[in-house]
Order: sequence, then structure tokens, then C-alpha cells
Amino acid sequence: MVKLRTSNSTEQQICNQEYNLAYPDSILYKVQKPARYTGGEVNAIVKDFDATTVRLALCFPDVYEVGMSNLSVPILYDIVNRRPDALAERAYVPWPDMAKAIRDNGLSLLSLENFRPMKDFDVVGFSLGAELAYTTMLEMLNLAQIPAWAADRAEDFPLIVAGGASMFNPEPVADFIDAFFIGDGEDSIIEFIDVYRDWKNGGRKGGKVGLLKRLAAIRGMYVPSFYEVKYKDDGTVASVTQTNAVAPEKIARRIIQTLPPPVTSPPVPYMEAVQDRGVIEISRGCVRGCRFCHAGVVYRPARSRPQQEIIQAADEIIENCGYDEISLLSLSTSDYPGIDDLVGKLAERHQGKHIAISLPSLRVTPGSVALVESLPEKRKSGLTFAPEAASPRLQKVINKVISDEELLATAQAAFDRGWTGLKLYYMLGLPTETLDDLSTMADMLHRIYGLSRGAPGRRPQLRVSLSTFVPKAHTPFQWAAQDDEETITQKQRHLIERVRVKGIRLSWSDAKMSLLEGALSRGDRRLSKVIYGAWKRGSVLDGWTELFSWQRWADAFTEAGLDPAFYARRTRPFAEVFPWSHIESGVTEGFLIREYRRALAGEASGDCHDAPCQACGLQELIDECAASLTHRISAGASSQPPPSAI
Ligand code: SF4
Repeated sequence: MVKLRTSNSTEQQICNQEYNLAYPDSILYKVQKPARYTGGEVNAIVKDFDATTVRLALCFPDVYEVGMSNLSVPILYDIVNRRPDALAERAYVPWPDMAKAIRDNGLSLLSLENFRPMKDFDVVGFSLGAELAYTTMLEMLNLAQIPAWAADRAEDFPLIVAGGASMFNPEPVADFIDAFFIGDGEDSIIEFIDVYRDWKNGGRKGGKVGLLKRLAAIRGMYVPSFYEVKYKDDGTVASVTQTNAVAPEKIARRIIQTLPPPVTSPPVPYMEAVQDRGVIEISRGCVRGCRFCHAGVVYRPARSRPQQEIIQAADEIIENCGYDEISLLSLSTSDYPGIDDLVGKLAERHQGKHIAISLPSLRVTPGSVALVESLPEKRKSGLTFAPEAASPRLQKVINKVISDEELLATAQAAFDRGWTGLKLYYMLGLPTETLDDLSTMADMLHRIYGLSRGAPGRRPQLRVSLSTFVPKAHTPFQWAAQDDEETITQKQRHLIERVRVKGIRLSWSDAKMSLLEGALSRGDRRLSKVIYGAWKRGSVLDGWTELFSWQRWADAFTEAGLDPAFYARRTRPFAEVFPWSHIESGVTEGFLIREYRRALAGEASGDCHDAPCQACGLQELIDECAASLTHRISAGASSQPPPSAI
């Protein structure tokens, strides 16, 4: 008999089950980090598999210690397992040594709760937050002995579903997936399970197609097999049309107006996770309007959690999980209303208990340094900020304006207070970027490093991470071309020549990885052949530099007769039909075009924080946005952006 702690913190006996390891010891002894595969964690929920109607496997396409650091699986795990008629179990991709052992021994990928093969579940769901995870999804399906192509799966295979930020352009994986969740999943997963349960209890009327027809009626659910894509001779999309009367012409993103209570009893790993701490999502979405930011659009608008709920959640996580660190998660933590007050209250409440609080995603202001200083149990190794661009011109292009004075004052405050490391994130290859912009960046890095000269103690180091900019679907830069490899290399060289200082360390993202990400993020359905071809050649965990091989992908593109540059490096006309044109984020195309034009003209726009509502489209869907727009109109502004701007 196993006693289990459920997510509402009451101890319940949920099932009679002997605790047993699923994979044989003979395998676990031989692989790296066997704790990835043994389950049985504190707060894991093990229900009676055979007595539950809807069984859902939640798959995260990365290794256990990465997946356990992601919030999407625990949120759905909590919601599903609260229902008496449903259960959710977790699965992560095995590292290649374990994958080989599974195949060599004729085994199958198992869940971490009841150690059931994926094939036993009714539904297998993938959380796809990044394009480079697509081959890993195929690897998991293959290890589960489930055919990758939706058309090859007979009725007795589980339904394969997916959701996550990269599913705002689901087309590259549309031929593998039966149904997608577009947008916030908290409400749609409940409706999904209701529909699945009724279909199953009702004798599976209409078979899989019958189920898909019912699912297509749920707001935010996309059934790709009900749509046909036609292409023009030049390779661009001619049309995306419904082939089934139940399918809506456009799939509207699901948006929850109020965040549901945070998860306070997630499973706690026995091994060290990448983020080894409790996490509370203090707000979703961002009030800023950075034009490069995909998350800024697909999680728009900002929705904050009440302070009291956060304070209570911190108490519960510490009690239920034993963590000594709580991370307050948000796209821009500094923008949480009353963040100083919240941090002050948490610090006071946990004084003397050795509980650390971490604040990711701080804005570049000296106030952020003061905020971090006010944290209890701080670790003074490094502070991280993301200016993204250095020259005032380019900052206006991307709509993230941080004055030199602000950045220098922030660095000065950090050094004065004894921080020994400062990490700065910048991007290379932003639209309209020139070598002059990069010279300005180099000058700024020298000025910042110069400030560290008078710092107390050991001289601080400056680490600068330069990622290649990848234009994303649904953002104002969705029409922009991505820089080619030669240009990026030239820009890197330009910076290296100008930043030859021992205390400043530059690092880059892999240019080929960025090209692949660019092609997949704005790609169409034909790319499924490329993804499959790359996986067949051995690609898996492509986000891991030590496992990534561009050659496999290049061969897969050649075999499919497709060119990654066609997807990534082309400036697209406004008239082009995008592969994701039937997926609606809620932000209108008119708003995105206006923002793109303003970017090219070097004009910044107001955000939802300091400026009146910009009428991005969400005012039609979100009460708070509508109220903000009403306020703007009553203050004398137009409800529409200026027509000349569109
Ligand atoms: S509708 Fe207005 S307030 Fe709401 S997200 Fe859009 S611009 Fe911001």
C-alpha cells in the first residue's frame, strides 16, 4: 500500500500498488543518472490505472532534470489528477544511453507513476515549447512503439496531442499530431477530458474521426487533418482551407482571464534538476511590447496573481516540497505590480529560515539591483540583465529602449554592492542592424567594465551572451529575413576585434542551430518530412550542442527537396499567406504590420504599462484590456491606430 500526498496536501490512499522499479536493475546500473527513470518522487500521484476512465501521459521532450524544471507539465498534472475520472502520468526522453538500452532489450518508454508503456494510455500529450524539440518528440513516440505519422496510427493507438508556445505555428509537426491545444491549457484540458470521457463511455461513436470532430468544437483546439494546405509554384502557401464542416475557419487562441491557483505540490526530483527550487508564476504575459519577443505576443496580455495568493503558495511549497529557494516567475518580474512590497513581505515572513528568493527576468534599472539586495539569503555571484541591443537607434527598432545612463547606473549599483559577476544578453542579426550598432555595443561593454575598476574586493567579470536573432511567427518581425551565416560571422568578428579585454567574455549561439530554429519556426507542413528525415538519421535533443549535428538536417532538407533559407532568410511580403494564417493569437495582423513599419522607421511604441492601450486586438477578448482602451478613449485618443500607419 502506498500513501500518497495529493496536490491539495491531504494524505490519501489512492491505490493498492506495490512500489516497483519498472526498468530492470541490470539496465539502470549501466546508464548515466538512473534516477531519471525511477519515479517514486515525493508528491508524485499514483492512481489506479485500470479503474480510471481517461489516462493521459504528459510527455516533455527533454531529459528528466530539464523537464522537471518546466512549469507546464506540473500545471496540467495537477489539474488532471484532481479529477476522479482522469489521471496524468509523466514521461521524459531518455538520454541516448538509456534509449539504446530500451531498444536493445525490446522494452518500451514507460511513465514514471504506474510505469505503464505509453501505448496503454488513452492520450499521449507533448509540451512543445521550442522548435528544436521536434525530433525528440519523434524519438519518444518511437521508443513508445507508436507510429510517428498520424495517418499510420490505427484506432487502437493513443490519441496524440500537443500544446506549448511553439504550437502557434504547429504546421511543421501537423502530420504527426491528432489535435493541438492553442493558448492557455488550463480550461481547455478540462473540456478535452470531458469530451474524451463522454466519447469513450458512449462506445467511441464515430471512431477516432468522431472524437476529433467533437474536439474541433472546443475553442482553442486545432485538428490539422481537417485542413488542406495548397502551395503556389513559388513554394509559398496558396491557401489553408477546412475539409470538414465542423472545423472553424480560424482557430482562436485560448486565453484565461484569471490565473488559476498555483501548483504547490509538484513532484520533487531525487536528483538535482536544472532549476532546483520551488516556482511560483507571479504573472503571465508581459506589459512591454518588445517586437522580437514571441512570448510577449503569445502570452499577451499581462495577468498578475494576487499578492496574498503568492505568499500563501510560498508557504505551501516550502511545507510540501522542502525547497529552500522560491523563484518568482514572470516574463518581466520587475513589472509585477508592487514587487518591492511582495519581496519585502516574503523576506520578513521567512526571516531566519534560510529561504532564498530568486527573481528571474529583471529590467535594467538601478532599482532592480536594490530589489535583489533586499532579498534574504542572496547569492552574490552573478546578476543577469537583457538589454538585447545597444545603440539607441536599434533599441527603438526592437522597441526595448534602455538609456546608456540607466544601464551604466545599474552596473555601477551592482559593482558597488559587491556583485562579482554581471551577465548581459544581447542579440545579433536584429532587423536593420549595422556594424555601427555593434561598435556602439562594444563601446558600452568597455564603459561597463571600466566601472568595475573601483569595485570593492575581486574585480567583477562581464559575461556577454550573444544569441542570433530568429524572427518568429505572430510577432511584428514575422515578415523579416534572418541574417545568413556569413553576415553573422562577420558581425561576430567585428565585435571580437573591438572587445579584446580579459575581463569581458563573449559567447555565441550556434549559427546553424539558429538557422534550423528559424526554418522550423516559420515553416509549413512539408517540413514534417525534414523533421522525420533528421530523426531517422539520428537527430534527437537538438537543443544540446554536444548532440546537435547540422549535417543530418542538411541531408534531410536535401532529401525532401526543401531549402532552409527559403523559410528563414526571405523577407516576406505583407500579401503572403503564412502557414500559420489560420491560427489566431488575438493580436491583429493590422497591429503587427503597424509595429513592423514603425520598427523599420526606427520609431518606438508605447507599452501596456506606461502608455495608453495600443489596441493590439486583445481589447476584444480581455475585460481589463477593454477597460484600459475605454480609459484611453475617454482621455481623448482614437480607438484605432492611425490609418496611415497600416
Ligand atoms: S489590448 Fe491594449 S492593454 Fe491589452 S495587451 Fe493589447 S495593447 Fe496591451
